[in-house]
Amino acid sequence: MSYRIAYIMSLPHSGSTLCGTLLGAHSASFCLGEPWKLRSYAQLQLEISHKTALGNACTCGAPDIWQCTFWPKVDAGVREASGMSLRELDTASNDPATFARDNKLLFDAVAAETGATLLVDSSKQPARLRALLDADFAPVTIVHLVRNPGGQVYSHMKRSGRGPYRHAVRNALDTLAMTRQAQKAETIFTTYEQIASTPEEWLRSIMPKLGLDFEARQLDWAHADRHNISGNRSRATSVSTIKVDHSWETGLTPLRKAYINFVAGPFAWLAKARSQIP
Ligand SMILES: [Zn+2]
Repeated sequence: MSYRIAYIMSLPHSGSTLCGTLLGAHSASFCLGEPWKLRSYAQLQLEISHKTALGNACTCGAPDIWQCTFWPKVDAGVREASGMSLRELDTASNDPATFARDNKLLFDAVAAETGATLLVDSSKQPARLRALLDADFAPVTIVHLVRNPGGQVYSHMKRSGRGPYRHAVRNALDTLAMTRQAQKAETIFTTYEQIASTPEEWLRSIMPKLGLDFEARQLDWAHADRHNISGNRSRATSVSTIKVDHSWETGLTPLRKAYINFVAGPFAWLAKARSQIP
């Protein structure tokens, strides 16, 4: 069994759920979503809140992962290989040996169950990427996803109810940290605007870099068999329409736009420039 991991690294509110969903809709690919949260889902720990709009529900619509058609089969595979259940796997462990063992068990079982040769992890954070690269149980391609800083900061502002100042600084610092991380493995740089405005063109260019050819069914992602862990509300939608979120263009004053662009713009540009060095 051999597979590649596509790791989506991005800030929050940058389209990682959409990116993972489109990549995972290929017949030889599967999107796990954010596997570091698996234990919370397996132990039914999630209350419905603004952060976890769907509570313990699986993206397929089952009220929790034990009532879905997919995860119990993965659980059986993990049990057969290790004697442990998904409830016991610590895929977010700080201990490198436990992290490597438990993530390998999970990814191996998902690959065996789906037959996929590309497994998509949309966890976003650079720390998990670093741990996956260190664990080294499968080759990793980084998909470094950047959104226009105005759009990312405005989405954060709407959630937090605060002004743009801290969010813009956070955007700049985190984008810089991710750009540095992106140099540690093969990296594909991409933007939310590319994905959302021209999804077919984007898929046609990115799939061969991940070892697969574009399939038309990827554009019908809402009808694919989806069981990704976590992600934003859009993961459960039943219509494959993508709307580009332009609300920041009218929602931000010119002065705030200029400020965000001044603070964070150069780092978004740098991310793109660095990732294009062969
Ligand atoms: Zn499911």
